Amino acid sequence: MIVYKFGGASVRDAEGVRNLASIVNGANERLVVVVSAMGKTTNAMEQVALSYFNGEKDIASAEFENVKRYHINIVRELFGSGSGCESELQKWFQKLFEKLNGAPSLNYDFEYDQIVPFGEMFSTLIVSHYLNLAGTKNKWIDIRTLLKTNEQYREAETDWELTGQLMLKHMNFNEFDIYVTQGFIGGTVNNLSTTLGREGSDYTSAVLGYVFDADSVSIWKDVPGVLNADPRWYPEAEKIEKMSYREAIELSFYGAQVIHPKTIKPLENKKIPLFVRSFVEPGAMGTKIYDLKGHVDLPPVYILKKDQILLTISPKDFSFIVENNLSEIFSIFSRRRVKINLMHNSAINFSVCINRMDTLNDLVNELQDRYVVRYNENLELISIRHYTDDSIKKILKGKDIIDSQVSRNTARYVVRKSEWKF
Ligand code: ADP
Ligand code: ASP
Ligand code: MG
Repeated sequence: MIVYKFGGASVRDAEGVRNLASIVNGANERLVVVVSAMGKTTNAMEQVALSYFNGEKDIASAEFENVKRYHINIVRELFGSGSGCESELQKWFQKLFEKLNGAPSLNYDFEYDQIVPFGEMFSTLIVSHYLNLAGTKNKWIDIRTLLKTNEQYREAETDWELTGQLMLKHMNFNEFDIYVTQGFIGGTVNNLSTTLGREGSDYTSAVLGYVFDADSVSIWKDVPGVLNADPRWYPEAEKIEKMSYREAIELSFYGAQVIHPKTIKPLENKKIPLFVRSFVEPGAMGTKIYDLKGHVDLPPVYILKKDQILLTISPKDFSFIVENNLSEIFSIFSRRRVKINLMHNSAINFSVCINRMDTLNDLVNELQDRYVVRYNENLELISIRHYTDDSIKKILKGKDIIDSQVSRNTARYVVRKSEWKF
């Protein structure tokens, strides 16, 4: 069997759903189709969740109305008015309506996870119905009943054993050759919804690939494959034909948005190839990520992470930054789920480059009990894999460098935000 994953951009309108159907139809294999929420629906659902949590009912329902209208328009374009799909969609709208009519708990992450997954329920319902209409018989699966996670809301972790058992039992390919299900979401053993982290649908496709020992996993994107930079930022970006798992995990870890960083490990563990392919040009090969042995020449790869902060922490009493302080600092970071993108230490300073966060003040306040904390905002982190002298010169031209770290394969620079010109 194989796994196909379609992101939000691929199903942002009726034409996208038709295109998905033609790609799925061309597969001619046992298939699990993983779908994200349509277009920017997850962003809209985040607004619904936040206003609901803050008690702003009017804002929540206005945003929900927009989401409904957007989906209904797509459904009517695909099926005409009054379709079976539309009435099922109304039932899901009703469920969310009831949720929004109740009072929220005090746990924002929990409430987020009970609301945001509706985006994926709406999209998969529409895709499954449309495939049936187009003659591609398939079964819709509520993945929350099979992909079981812990209760770490908004960043839930997979219970691999239970998930494997449930998936193999309930998606056995006896009656159906094609299943359609949601990316990004899961469920606890108590059947509460969870989410796996923003952009997590790529990871869902890897979980399915792993469980079913898939022949391959393909993620269908709006780019020809993995490029040596984000084309929205770097106009001369070129496609990379093939790369090893190790290369892919490094790129996604540094912030190449095209693959979610958690996607590679499950696939590497079973040596399942991952294809990054273009839904605009489904006949093209895309990028193959696999157990590539030996050396392949790769061009310099540029990865830009925006909205960075550089925190510099030093003990108040001028003592050294040593293991004791570091372990204390790390435990604060870990409890607050701070993600470190780059770190550096000297005798009395410890610096970390982290993503901008809403709770920065709380973090700084906590650290200030024992440390002097300074920070720089409005920074960007640029990583260059397989750097050359020329590539570094080109990227750093006119940039104000705040910190840097250069290893054998990768050069990384924290720079002050300014316009990029190439
Ligand atoms: P999805 O539709 O699956 O959610 P994303 O929008 O998350 O897909 O990822 C695709 C986008 O990733 C592309 O449109 C591109 O702008 C961006 N991107 C960032 N870095 C790269 C890269 N190295 N190669 C290709 N695309 C990249
Ligand atoms: N719909 C989710 C998001 O936008 C998951 C995904 O697209 O991968 O984050
Ligand atoms: Mg995405």
